[in-house]
Amino acid sequence: MSPYGVESKTSPIEGLGLFATTPFSIGQKIAPYLGSTTTRIDSPAKAKSPTYWLEIQPGLWLDGSSAENPARHANHSCAPNAELIYNVTAGVAWLIATQPIAISDEITFDYGFSIADSIFQPCHCKHPSCPGHIVATPLRPALRRHLRFSRSRD
Ligand SMILES: [Zn+2]
Repeated sequence: MSPYGVESKTSPIEGLGLFATTPFSIGQKIAPYLGSTTTRIDSPAKAKSPTYWLEIQPGLWLDGSSAENPARHANHSCAPNAELIYNVTAGVAWLIATQPIAISDEITFDYGFSIADSIFQPCHCKHPSCPGHIVATPLRPALRRHLRFSRSRD
């Protein structure tokens, strides 16, 4: 059992997702996103568990794949209800509610992927504004232009 008000179970978005077992109000801490940090030159987005690797500051990556990370199953959504905030002083990242979250709601946040990384990461969130790839919200229009003007890869 998680000491936080969350549980991991099958998600309509992808694989396992993170779901609320208690309501959260806007601004409330949901669960820490625990992991080890590393600075990398190359994007790890093509690594084995790419969606556990998050760029929490420019050039600083957090590997959230550990089973000790209570928030590791949180999926990306293009209409998220939480955000990941990295506290530099504490060296800990927390999922914080950005929308009111009810019991059994899936908790999602914006993985903030670059356009280059997004090409390898399909998004299945099914939101009307979803460009079909996991990409940082501000980059969505640029990704759409890129997809429109680039030829199919296969
Ligand atoms: Zn999406």
